[in-house]
Amino acid sequence: MAADRRIVIENCAIATVDANDTEHASGHVVVAGNRIESVGAGRAPEGLENVARRIDASGHLVTPGLVNTHHHFYQWITRGLATDHNLFNWLVALYPTWARIDEPMVYQAAQGSLAMMARGGVTTAMDHHYVFPRGSGDLSGAIIRAAREMGVRFTLARGSMDRSEKDGGLPPDFAVETLDGALTATEATVKEHHDASFDAMTQVAVAPCSPFSVSTELLRQGAELARRLGVRLHTHGSETVEEEQFCKELFGMGPTDYFESTGWLGEDVWMAHCVHMNDSDIAAFARTKTGVAHCPSSNARLAAGIARVPDMLAAGVPVGLGVDGTASNESGELHTELRNALLINRLGAHREAALNARQALRLGTYGGAQVLGRASEIGSLEPGKLADLVLWKLDTLAHASIADPVTALVFGAAAPVTASFVNGRQIVEDNRLLHADEDAIARSTRAEAQRLARIAVQG
Ligand SMILES: [Zn+2]
Repeated sequence: MAADRRIVIENCAIATVDANDTEHASGHVVVAGNRIESVGAGRAPEGLENVARRIDASGHLVTPGLVNTHHHFYQWITRGLATDHNLFNWLVALYPTWARIDEPMVYQAAQGSLAMMARGGVTTAMDHHYVFPRGSGDLSGAIIRAAREMGVRFTLARGSMDRSEKDGGLPPDFAVETLDGALTATEATVKEHHDASFDAMTQVAVAPCSPFSVSTELLRQGAELARRLGVRLHTHGSETVEEEQFCKELFGMGPTDYFESTGWLGEDVWMAHCVHMNDSDIAAFARTKTGVAHCPSSNARLAAGIARVPDMLAAGVPVGLGVDGTASNESGELHTELRNALLINRLGAHREAALNARQALRLGTYGGAQVLGRASEIGSLEPGKLADLVLWKLDTLAHASIADPVTALVFGAAAPVTASFVNGRQIVEDNRLLHADEDAIARSTRAEAQRLARIAVQG
């Protein structure tokens, strides 16, 4: 893309989510190539050359694109199952089905997950994929291909499991990899796909699944591998009381102490959930700058509890938002998580002081960029950063009478996306995907869900 090709967006409210939470009631954003060139109040500067497009965004709020920090794309084809279970019972119910996935299923499921997020304003997606049945094909390659085709920025967290029932873990023996197999495949995935450049569209993290599905050695050696390769680390942590109990029984300590003992606290680490954290756990995360992917809907769906997000933020822990896999959050939308994060945290100890609308928007944008290690590139609208941004339509019945645009976006109904740009390239227009056929994806994901259900029944 020519570096000086410009897109001018004007007459819109803007929430930059910069360090000062700068907002403009009516302002402009100028995109040049794949970067933001200027953001400010009033009209764009006069005399700009090479303007390819000028958008009158009256009635809109422009924000940084949403950043999703925890997901499992393959679960798109196992939605609506085990709907009244807690985490451990839900996992045990679903592992046998998940162990039968193959490359076409994973590709279609990735398309479904990505499509749902992209049309709702997600510009950076991530997939924590940890089920690699023997002979199932190139699952990582299929997921990355789906993300490229959708046009979103993407982090693949290459997951793994090697602690099955015979070793005291939760997954069945046939659903796991060996320690060496997992490490070798993870290293190969990083070497093949990870791009460390400023405007990278694909990055890879090392991501053993959880304390109850992974050996201590895989955590230890996974951390060493990631640091040798210069990539980030991701896992599930402190999700439920049952996990806490599991860690105390097997390792003689709670999850956070266990992670610390295996090299898993650090500014290059982010963990999903972190619901059951005491004061010293939160202090350890703050001291080490370990990040958190807060997944409020999934935590509610699986009755896991309310994460202490206000305490984490007060302590200086980086926090982003995650939808989590769609087998525990059937909606798979991140913009509704802004509202859910705010509302659910107000049910916790801090009540009305828990989170406000600006903080919720920050979790879904800059906070997400922080935990993915990309805060200098994305997550706020500032000159020099990558042009990942969303135009939310707020002048219709659903939002027009709400007092201010950020409040409308967070407290109101899910807002329609008039346009979404990633790396300066438009991926959504008038709530429809530009580079994928939503209706075709709906049909093909349903077909793959039915195929998986048939294979799973056959056993
Ligand atoms: Zn998860």
